[in-house]
Amino acid sequence: MSTYLRLPVTFIKGEGVWLWDDRGDCYLDALSGIAVCGLGHSHPELTKALCEQVGMLIHTSNLYHIEKQELLAEKLVALSGMDKVFFCNSGAEANEAAIKLARLHGHNRGIELPTIIVMERSFHGRTMATLTATGNRKAQAGFEPLLAGFVRVPYDNLDAVAQIADSNKHVVAVLVETYQGEGGVNFPQINYLQGLRQLCDQHNWLLMLDEVQCGIGRTGKWFAFQHSDIMPDVMTLAKGLGSGVPIGACIAKSDAGDVFKPGNHASTFGGNPLACTAALTTLNVIEKDQLMQNAVQIGSFIQDRFREKLANWLDVIQIRGQGLMLGIELPVSGSELVKEALKHRLLINVTSEKVVRLLPALVMNQAEAEQVVDTASEIIGKFLANQTENVLTRNKSGPSN
Ligand SMILES: *Cc1c(COP(=O)(O)O)cnc(C)c1O
Repeated sequence: MSTYLRLPVTFIKGEGVWLWDDRGDCYLDALSGIAVCGLGHSHPELTKALCEQVGMLIHTSNLYHIEKQELLAEKLVALSGMDKVFFCNSGAEANEAAIKLARLHGHNRGIELPTIIVMERSFHGRTMATLTATGNRKAQAGFEPLLAGFVRVPYDNLDAVAQIADSNKHVVAVLVETYQGEGGVNFPQINYLQGLRQLCDQHNWLLMLDEVQCGIGRTGKWFAFQHSDIMPDVMTLAKGLGSGVPIGACIAKSDAGDVFKPGNHASTFGGNPLACTAALTTLNVIEKDQLMQNAVQIGSFIQDRFREKLANWLDVIQIRGQGLMLGIELPVSGSELVKEALKHRLLINVTSEKVVRLLPALVMNQAEAEQVVDTASEIIGKFLANQTENVLTRNKSGPSN
């Protein structure tokens, strides 16, 4: 079905941050399949582990114990400081699990219409519940009726959340991206998570962090919440977790981890031996090869170099990032930049219309990063120069009072 407007290119092979199309042309990948391929393409250790696992066992069922799933759960619990994990196959499913968990938790506490606070400009997936939670009217349009049980407030605004507390006695949880991805690569103020944690503690709500995009080492910590000193009650993961083998996880702390009982939630594929091998290997390689340190170093190199290269434009653009989650906000819609970059054999993305988004693999080296910035800033610079001319021309020829 035509759910995607596809770019005119077909990739058939990859290695590290490089991709080759079916005509043999080579591209520099600064998007990693939207924050999925953190180890780069065709990482030899991942390839080896997956081939071995395929030869041994791909799938049994959650009716039985699964060794790799238990090892992965232990690893995620150790890295996050949380307690229990539910495995599924995507980010939307991980958030769907979190939403169900919050509702059940509410009912257990005698709240009959459990309500979840969600944010403007958020993205949580495309299933009915996660689409309802998503703060994007365009994505929701045509799919009404949406679900009941969500209230929306602006992102990075603690007063708005506090006001809901005064007026709505049905709230059971806050669902928020620690850093917003699709909504424009937005980083909240430094005290935001702490403030949310306080409000949640005060009102006995669950703090549920969607780290589907920002988790798994991308920002320089395993999980973006670890840049603060708070703990969530629930966290969702997917994208980077399995390096492209579909896997999602809903992780919970203490009481929240015991809300689901047998029969409350399930997944046929979730946490199968193949997907869990992909995730375990991904986490092990990130740790062993110090890829989070690399993400911090290369991320700040990229930001610095963009500021140099786009120095003339710093009053009209904003460059922001944490590790290898990077955005350049333009003054105008920049969707045409994606095609322009493709012509220059560079893969980037534009999200929320105005924000050029880079999500390079955590293995990117400095020479590759330099090439990304040099190509991207040339394209962006030309684009901005053009825009300014257009705006000037329009102003000159436009109607005057
Ligand atoms: C991509 C994304 C999702 C949805 O993940 P899918 O695997 O596409 O269902 C949810 N939340 C965030 C923050 C995302 O970036």
